[in-house]
Amino acid sequence: MRAVSLRLSGMVSLSEGCFGCGNCVVTCRRGVLSVVNGNVEMTDFRLCELCKDCVNPCPTRVIESLLGQCNRMRYALVRARRR
Ligand code: SF4
Ligand code: SF4
Repeated sequence: MRAVSLRLSGMVSLSEGCFGCGNCVVTCRRGVLSVVNGNVEMTDFRLCELCKDCVNPCPTRVIESLLGQCNRMRYALVRARRR
């Protein structure tokens, strides 16, 4: 099972499943992805457009897990702001 973590800064990262090829990083139009210590990180989920351009270039499609978490956090943020 792939684990995803979210930090208070808005950063989302995968703890496994990514081998750091960087394909998603060079594809991202917003520049929100980076590879740190061989693992992909999203610097701030609020900056991702959810365009999914990064999905096909990912050999393992593990980036979809990161985008799924990003999407959930965006909805959570919208709900919190409405309260
Ligand atoms: S879905 Fe988000 S992370 Fe992926 S390419 Fe689009 S803006 Fe970048
Ligand atoms: S394309 Fe996939 S395997 Fe390559 S760095 Fe991005 S998430 Fe990791």
